[in-house]
Amino acid sequence: NSIVAIVGRPNVGKSTLFNRLVQRREAIVDAVSGVTRDRHYGKSDWNGKEFSVIDTGGYTIGSDDIFEEEIRKQVALAIDEADIIIFVVDVEDGITPMDAEVANLLRKVKKPIFIAVNKVDNAMRAADAVEFYNLGLGDYHTISSINGSGTGDLLDAVAEKLAEPEEVDLEKDELPRFAVVGRPNAGKSSFINALIGEDRNIVTNIAGTTRDSIDTKYNRFGFDFNLVDTAGIRKKSKVKEDLEFYSVMRAVRTIEYSDVIILVVDATRGFEGQDEKIFWLAEKNRKGIVILINKWDLIEKETNTMRDFEAKVRKQIEPFTDVPIVFISALTKQRLFKAIETAVEVFENRKNRIATSKLNDTVLEIVKSYPPPAIKGKFVKIKYCMQLPTPTPQFAFFCNLPQYVKDPYKRFVENKLREIYNFSGVPITIYFRQK
Ligand code: GDP
Repeated sequence: NSIVAIVGRPNVGKSTLFNRLVQRREAIVDAVSGVTRDRHYGKSDWNGKEFSVIDTGGYTIGSDDIFEEEIRKQVALAIDEADIIIFVVDVEDGITPMDAEVANLLRKVKKPIFIAVNKVDNAMRAADAVEFYNLGLGDYHTISSINGSGTGDLLDAVAEKLAEPEEVDLEKDELPRFAVVGRPNAGKSSFINALIGEDRNIVTNIAGTTRDSIDTKYNRFGFDFNLVDTAGIRKKSKVKEDLEFYSVMRAVRTIEYSDVIILVVDATRGFEGQDEKIFWLAEKNRKGIVILINKWDLIEKETNTMRDFEAKVRKQIEPFTDVPIVFISALTKQRLFKAIETAVEVFENRKNRIATSKLNDTVLEIVKSYPPPAIKGKFVKIKYCMQLPTPTPQFAFFCNLPQYVKDPYKRFVENKLREIYNFSGVPITIYFRQK
């Protein structure tokens, strides 16, 4: 999937455009998982192609008196990490010196760039927009992110440059792609080193397509897998590594390219804000997830220490609670086999396909016995269900009144699916549709 970054100076309407792009999609995602929205990162889709959207402006504090330096940094990062860039300008202000500077940076870039002239709410404004040809970046799109006009045309143009949707080829036996992610100092490097050791048992490292060049094939404990390493191929940027925006961009990129996210958590700090953020990022992208609680050697243990720790994490990731949690120590090499074995299992679970007949014999029976509550005397009748032919588990339930099926009921159905079938560590999407 492609990453689309929205850049521009403050107050040109980046966030409004971002909200427009992700809203429709977020509504679906939120309804299913109850996940809190990230205001700066989201998924969207257009003409059947999914993509990630990043609002670079969202990562600056006090955006009114933002330093130009900061904007330049963000544009530089977007140029490095995104596949497609939408440069938002404001028709009311015309080309400001800052716009001209951003345009300068963008002109050197080979990636697709779209200029969105925002706040074009009427025909007069549309005429004013011609001035933006002077940015030297070619044609522009006029939009009004407030009323939505023009965004469809903009998206049509963007969609032509988006990567084609992932093909579902169940026959093809691809190696799992694992990404080791987590907060700084959680022990990611230590884990990878403990796993692949000094000899770096590399089987192949094919350079070529983008995807190949960031995958390195390993064999450990009898398992073949690829480790996705985006850091390795990224050009050294002059940008400070501690920018939150930077770490999010990195995580997004890495997650996009992987099948299973191995989230390394520092046991001494607990499962915290940043961990949760990465977790939901992976969930939104429908990637498999394994949580490794690292540095377990440092924890003073009593009878229920592990159980209590685990229960606390599970509470934080509700309702997606059947994610495997493995307690490891990269230092003493404790349970590294278990960690990899679990990641391979999650990879397999993600490919689970349940035959329609089986689903209808199991889940449908339960759903029929416990139908959604009637609303205003109207009953929801669920006729049948099926797993969609998508790369990750998605289910459609066909009924007479899909709009009457509320979140708690969807969660109930998801829990049943998880109880009956093994989707441990795998995000599930459930749709209710009119027959
Ligand atoms: P990264 O930033 O996530 O790659 O973290 P590092 O792998 O660089 O580890 C950060 C620090 O934690 C280093 O000082 C490591 O030696 C230490 N560390 C990593 N894993 C463990 C572990 O399992 N136990 C202990 N005691 N220390 C660890």
